[in-house]
Amino acid sequence: MIYLDNSATTKVHPDVLEAMMPYLQEEYGNASSKHYTLAENSRNAIEDAREHVAKLIGCKHDEVVFTSGSTESNNMILKGVMDYYQYRGKQLVVSKVEHSSILETAEYLKSKGNDVVFLDVDQYGRVKIDDLEKLFTTDGNPLLVSIIWGNNETGSLNPIDSIATLCCKHNVFFHTDATQVLGKYDVRNVADGLGFLSCSAHKLHGPKGIGACIVKKDHQGIKTRMTPLIHGGGQEFDYRSGTLSTHNIVGFGKAAEIALHEINETRQILEQLELQLRMRLNEYFSEILSFNSDDSNKIPGVINVRFKDVDNEFLVKELGDRVALSSGSACSSTKPSHVLRGMGLNLEQIRSSIRISLSRFNTTEEINEFCRMLAGY
Ligand code: PMP
Repeated sequence: MIYLDNSATTKVHPDVLEAMMPYLQEEYGNASSKHYTLAENSRNAIEDAREHVAKLIGCKHDEVVFTSGSTESNNMILKGVMDYYQYRGKQLVVSKVEHSSILETAEYLKSKGNDVVFLDVDQYGRVKIDDLEKLFTTDGNPLLVSIIWGNNETGSLNPIDSIATLCCKHNVFFHTDATQVLGKYDVRNVADGLGFLSCSAHKLHGPKGIGACIVKKDHQGIKTRMTPLIHGGGQEFDYRSGTLSTHNIVGFGKAAEIALHEINETRQILEQLELQLRMRLNEYFSEILSFNSDDSNKIPGVINVRFKDVDNEFLVKELGDRVALSSGSACSSTKPSHVLRGMGLNLEQIRSSIRISLSRFNTTEEINEFCRMLAGY
């Protein structure tokens, strides 16, 4: 199996698995228990992991709130901020090409009486800064802006630094869904103004079912607060109750440590592999091939292409026992892609589009083999 669906999930790094194992075996203490070593060991391992995640993102360790993944983090930020600060405003701004966990949450918040603005994007799925600026300076009154950093279907990067600066200037809360960029793109040193960030371990060779939401302590000149999504025993700074999943958190920490250590190397490998892939595709399919994603300002190793008159579902199924590919996001794969629709593609173009997403564990041989296989199909 040639695995080219790394935007859906990635394989667990062997060192991550090794780090997790003791916490599934002998080190099974509940991190919230008191006065005995087994609990303390668990607690220490969690705090170590928190430090590694914080370093990868470039925030303080006590700004990392562990969740079950980005779906939960996205829900938590949008619902939590809109609820807690409802006295300050009711307008939420998202783009039309967000992940379903943002879009569906935004629709829910709209049904509860909030005013939600869905921003248009350009042909590559990027938000236009002018549109946002207009919203701030004319009729809009946003409380929270949430814009995806790197798109999960096309790899396009949004100008997060400029959006953060703009939000800061207008004192508007800013959240970004960074699920796809972490580990492939250095997210540290973003402008002040980015207050909340969502991420997930299984996109960077960590385990599934664990992620984080970053809640900056001070955001737009105030001490940040939000209504918790899950109430209970008060774990995770009162934001997210429930017994902590020590083994998963340890796995996330290890994945973050490796990702940071290898960030430049990973980027170079992915850029090289993507170049090879583009070359081979052009070589074999120039007559019927179009690229939905451009080649700059993007997550390295993620491309979205269309083959004229080819049914994407059929292609993905036909190759399914030899290659893992995707006809869209795994989280909304039953509907035609809202991302490609937002970029202006028609239904026929959407139905002939596939996403190819690489990891640093892919090889040039795999890419050559995949293109040969595709040509034979
Ligand atoms: N946001 C984006 C951009 C994603 O790609 C995904 C995963 N497909 C999610 C959110 C949801 O993440 P999780 O699987 O951790 O819930």
